[in-house]
Amino acid sequence: METATTTSDAHDLPHAEHGRKAQAKLSRYDRMLARRKPARGQAASKGYRQAKKLRAKAHKKVARQRQDTGRKWAKRVVRDHDAIAVEDFRPKFLARTSMARKAADAAIGATKKALMEMGRKHGRVVRLVHPAHTTMDCASCGARTKHALPLSERTYTRTACGAASPRDENSARVMLVRAGLNPAGAEGVRPPGAPLQEAA
Ligand SMILES: [Zn+2]
Repeated sequence: METATTTSDAHDLPHAEHGRKAQAKLSRYDRMLARRKPARGQAASKGYRQAKKLRAKAHKKVARQRQDTGRKWAKRVVRDHDAIAVEDFRPKFLARTSMARKAADAAIGATKKALMEMGRKHGRVVRLVHPAHTTMDCASCGARTKHALPLSERTYTRTACGAASPRDENSARVMLVRAGLNPAGAEGVRPPGAPLQEAA
């Protein structure tokens, strides 16, 4: 599972492990709080207040780590590209129940925010793209298949036009086309290592 998938393998962002460890810690504090929850009309115990403080601290730490990872990654993406298309989705924070899934959504949200901020700061073209059908459209000929690619299928293949590329890469290219950008120039638009210029 990746937090961000791009058209260039070198810029993909794998899901950070620290998020999972920190999330486990948060769950532990949640359980502590539930156990120590004061009865109605009773003052909170010292243990409850302590657990609450620890939870807030752990929460802050996770948020900071996510932001830091997101910013470092965004800086690399912005350095190497002139124009960026970002999927305009809403992470489904509330719809999901599993902690791992929540952590993954929060990481995606923080990463997207960092990328858009960094792109604008450095004067890059940043376009939001409607996310519908990105797994159904073919990046090479533009045709739309009847059915969405099942999640288990990692490769997008079409016999009609001979397209065959990793699933997420196909989607990323479809997004570039939608953003009015040229997917053929997706890699190496800017020589790697070129200095970042601050936008006025
Ligand atoms: Zn095709």
